[in-house]
Amino acid sequence: MVMTLEKAASIAIRSLTPNRPYHVQWMLTRRCNYNCKGCDVWQEQDGRELSSWEIKRGLDVLRELGAIEVVLSGGNPLLRDDIDEIIEYASRSFITTIYDNGSMAVEKIDALRNADFVAISIDSLDPARNDHIKGVKGAWKKAMQAVEKLHDEGISVTVSPTISQLNLYEIADFTRFFLQKGIPLWYCLYSYDSSEDLGQIFRIGKENDEFIITDREAMVKLCDFLIEMRRKNGNIFMTTRILKAIKDLYLRDARTWKCRALQNFFMVDHLGRVAGCHLHSSVASIFDLRHAWHSKKFNSLRKIYSDCTQCTYLCYIFYSIHGSVFGNIKIAQEQWKSAKLFLRRDKTKPANLTSPVLKSY
Ligand code: SF4
Ligand code: SF4
Repeated sequence: MVMTLEKAASIAIRSLTPNRPYHVQWMLTRRCNYNCKGCDVWQEQDGRELSSWEIKRGLDVLRELGAIEVVLSGGNPLLRDDIDEIIEYASRSFITTIYDNGSMAVEKIDALRNADFVAISIDSLDPARNDHIKGVKGAWKKAMQAVEKLHDEGISVTVSPTISQLNLYEIADFTRFFLQKGIPLWYCLYSYDSSEDLGQIFRIGKENDEFIITDREAMVKLCDFLIEMRRKNGNIFMTTRILKAIKDLYLRDARTWKCRALQNFFMVDHLGRVAGCHLHSSVASIFDLRHAWHSKKFNSLRKIYSDCTQCTYLCYIFYSIHGSVFGNIKIAQEQWKSAKLFLRRDKTKPANLTSPVLKSY
């Protein structure tokens, strides 16, 4: 955990600055070693990437703009040979989270020691179901071993399931399982790209009937369950406000938030192109962002995006709802609370992740 006092103070100051982005997702590479269903990335791989030097200059721009949190994703960002250098540089200034599908975290463990959070994607406690979703045999076993290893080594690992119709009925048990082991959870919600923007920066999710949540009543009950669990356990990294918004979405089709793409969050792709979200066109290069951020063009795009209702990707909902200065304080409080939780954890105790399911494999 790279949460020095200097970094915490700098983040606290940036948190209170109005009109600056909070969250940036940087898809460092378009290469991936998995074949997940419901994802287009692995079918449209691209070997072109920014250099380490360019990425560091881009991170300098984000810091000057006042961004607080950077999520490094892909593809699989751990496929980059320079990922250790990038994580180390990013984590000096930002709350830095890095994603892995569970296949490379152990191999790159030394690089991950500098990240604030490492999110490992696991979708089921049933190995066969998980591997079906990931499109790779053995993915579940590798991911569970990675979580166990990282937790034992004192690295702040979180498990990140994507909630879909395929795993809806097991998410409560899944949550209890990891909470009992002291492993925090950050949820994703299955969504797909239905953009009308022909210049969509790139596609992530395609429509897949297997994943679309059809049992809305069960989804509502799951939200109630998670709201209740959150009261007792701070290791559920979702705010009650978000869970209530998701509940409203499934209960009465109500979107109780306005999208804040290009206000509170935006994304950067593997070539340094910036878009409000991945479903829209690139609107600037990361290297031109200092000027573009305050431009008339960006202001008019913000208005357009605030009326957009084309997706339900949970991270975009999260950073839309927590879009005010108050929201930023709330997120900072939650993250600091979590950081303290991690720091308090007795790192001499093993995580004991061996489940009856794991034993059977
Ligand atoms: S969901 Fe992630 S790990 Fe799976 S294919 Fe897509 S980019 Fe790769
Ligand atoms: S709702 Fe927001 S995040 Fe989703 S497609 Fe529209 S602008 Fe993008």
